[in-house]
Amino acid sequence: MSKEGHLTRFAKFIRNRTFSRWAFLVVIDEAHLIPIFGLPRYGLSLFRPVYGKLDEIKTMLGPAVIWAAMTATAPCYMLKSIETRVLRPNYVNLSTTSNRSDITYATHCVPGGIDRLENYGCFLSSPFVFETQKRVLIFRDNKDSTITFFPSNIVAVGEVVRHYHSLMSADYLKDAHDEFTKPDGKCKILVATAGESTGIDHPDVEIVCLAGLPSDITAVLQRGGRAVRQISCDGLCVIFYDNWVNEIDLADYGLKDGFNMESFDFDSDIDRPPKNVLTLMSTVKERASLACVLLTKRLFCLRLFFSKCLRDDSPEALEFSTAFCCDAHNNGFDLQQLLPGKLYNPDTAHKPLDAPMKKSSNPKPRSSANKKQLRKLFEQWLEKAHEDNPMSPQTDDWAKLWAADIFKIISTFDAKNEKTSSPEIIEDSEWYESDWEELFEKEKETRIRMEKSVCFP
Ligand SMILES: [Zn+2]
Repeated sequence: MSKEGHLTRFAKFIRNRTFSRWAFLVVIDEAHLIPIFGLPRYGLSLFRPVYGKLDEIKTMLGPAVIWAAMTATAPCYMLKSIETRVLRPNYVNLSTTSNRSDITYATHCVPGGIDRLENYGCFLSSPFVFETQKRVLIFRDNKDSTITFFPSNIVAVGEVVRHYHSLMSADYLKDAHDEFTKPDGKCKILVATAGESTGIDHPDVEIVCLAGLPSDITAVLQRGGRAVRQISCDGLCVIFYDNWVNEIDLADYGLKDGFNMESFDFDSDIDRPPKNVLTLMSTVKERASLACVLLTKRLFCLRLFFSKCLRDDSPEALEFSTAFCCDAHNNGFDLQQLLPGKLYNPDTAHKPLDAPMKKSSNPKPRSSANKKQLRKLFEQWLEKAHEDNPMSPQTDDWAKLWAADIFKIISTFDAKNEKTSSPEIIEDSEWYESDWEELFEKEKETRIRMEKSVCFP
């Protein structure tokens, strides 16, 4: 039934004897979506109730039709739901390992919170080189946060970073997806919601980041599995989580002191929140999946935990071809070594790597000649930036997108003049205070002029 209350085209087909008598086999892809979207969970309203009504279609088609359910990421408790909804009691189970031996798994507690933009600078190569920049896929659950999420003030390189969620136009989504997936695509980092995690192949993604504690173990496996799909190199799946996860007491989930992998009941709902009933007002802490919280505790090998969740006892279940299996082995694993840029550390941010930075208590203002030279460099850069890409994102905060380039011009200029290149001299400088607005105003005028000069058919 559609939202409007009438029968959908598919519903009419199912009821049409001419159609239904030819039905022989029904295949449900991504069958884990039946319990995730279609069955009641913790008192919350259903996201896609139709997934929970597949048994009604099964009844309509009759017992002669064979049903097959396909999934690579359903833990035991979800499998039970799939079995009761669409399979026969004596169904044939064909399984192979879901282990991704070419992916290293890790978790990372981000300083300052998951929305702290600086935490994502580690995915950009430093210095930034387009050709060698790794393809990175970042997942957020919240659509709104994909818009304002990525640190536009950290990188300002045209279309290297793109956002992707279902409220965006079809044309934009196609373009963003194409640019991210084709070999010579301009997009190197895609910030996406879950829509990108199921059934879409990204050929050369090397790093997948799940920003925020995932809702369930299936989300970890589905999203993490987007890494290194069609290239032979080591992939990384890293979960970024907030510090509040560390404060969670496992006793709130009914786990007793001294519990271990052997005593853990993998047949139970391993994704259960601390409270059995949730509401729309429940906090993220109240919703936290037990399995996902356990991943962050580093109590046991993540790969072994996944295999237990999926009841995968095949010989390949624990194999890995990467240098490290996961971050839980206390064997010298260092997440930083697997990232193209520096992990954000508020204690060392904006300081030189080798020595603590001495803050200038009284920065010297720029001379008039110095300002003039710098302004000339800005103007040259501005003209070239527009010429190179007149159709680049032109929003109200367009100027902020280029902060990194502007910073580079200033720091290079200062270095050439044998002055300090620390951000503080720039932040505190007289020029910055008095002329920044003027620069952006000039940029705006140039943009408008360039827009007018572009001929549209
Ligand atoms: Zn491991």
